[in-house]
Amino acid sequence: MGSESLFNRIANDESTKARTGRVTTAHGTVDTPAFMPVGTQGTVKGLTQQMLEDAGASIILGNTYHLFLRPGHTRINQLGGLHRFMSWGRPILTDSGGFQVFSLNELRKLTEEGVEFQSHIDGSTHFLSPEKSIDIQAALGSDIVMAFDECTPFPATRDEAIASLKLTQRWARRSKQRLSDLHSDAANAERSGITVVNQTQALFGINQGSTFLDLREQSLAGLVEIGFDGYAIGGLSVGEEKSAMFEVVSHIAPLMPEDRPRYLMGVGTPEDIIGAVNLGIDMFDCVMPTRNARNGQLFTSRGKLNIKNARYKKDGQPIDDACRCAVCARYSRAYVRHLYMSGEILGAVLTSLHNVSFYLDMMSMMRQAITLGTFKEFSDSFLSGLARGQD
Ligand SMILES: [Zn+2]
Repeated sequence: MGSESLFNRIANDESTKARTGRVTTAHGTVDTPAFMPVGTQGTVKGLTQQMLEDAGASIILGNTYHLFLRPGHTRINQLGGLHRFMSWGRPILTDSGGFQVFSLNELRKLTEEGVEFQSHIDGSTHFLSPEKSIDIQAALGSDIVMAFDECTPFPATRDEAIASLKLTQRWARRSKQRLSDLHSDAANAERSGITVVNQTQALFGINQGSTFLDLREQSLAGLVEIGFDGYAIGGLSVGEEKSAMFEVVSHIAPLMPEDRPRYLMGVGTPEDIIGAVNLGIDMFDCVMPTRNARNGQLFTSRGKLNIKNARYKKDGQPIDDACRCAVCARYSRAYVRHLYMSGEILGAVLTSLHNVSFYLDMMSMMRQAITLGTFKEFSDSFLSGLARGQD
């Protein structure tokens, strides 16, 4: 964490706000715009690390909340950190745990200090604060650490949104202080029972403010004053109208520091990601490619395809003939459907691999188009393909 930017901008598209860049970490570089497959419990569901590497994943996301509860951050720390534990040598971003605490837990007690909650696994009581969240993320040794925030519930009144963003602001300051303490003095970490395994962790602050544009601005100004290595937009994709989400992103993205990565949390569909790249967002994460894969929904260049559909019974074509993934190179729709309908494990593996590959390839095509100055043409043509919808 420092004043030097970990982000190099490479190219800006001329007719849109889209941009390409490179984020540099101790575990390698991430070319942006980038999609981060979600590795909730130290695994991107259904995929081996080798499959992720071969599919071109340059960074994955780990969930602080889940890893804290099981197997525990101290255990992972003793085993050398999350990279070594899961045998993933490329960059990792960890979330703060805030979103899960606020979305998974009915029973929670929020105070200035932090939030008390009960484990969704066994009902045991735990406490998460900015300091605790940062300790966990330091124990995991992720390359990008997220400040602990309150994900403002939706809908929120203006007063609720103000209170929430101010709390997030105070927690952001405490998060930064804690990470700096841990990195500067090993004794601090020892007292928390952890060893710092990655001295070069970057810290991102999280913008809140619900759908109130002036509150979003106020939140961003507060974060920039504290100073972070990157800035995330949080509290979206939580039930608001899509138009409201894009209103916030189109308003706030251009105000975010140009020399820092911009991360739109928890978004989204291919259409949403293309729309947000168009507005200057650099990083994304979403469970959609893997979750939908397990439900038989596949993303293709001609829209979504539901492999459960009887029409694929005798279909010898690949899932998507325009896709370059290992699944489309080898297997037919009929075979993937058969595996899915039989409840075979391989069915979920192949659908997950295709969907994650589809997302990663889409990002790669966007980066190339931005570099060539043809992003507008690319996105128009890609979106019209998606809109064809083949079910
Ligand atoms: Zn494919």
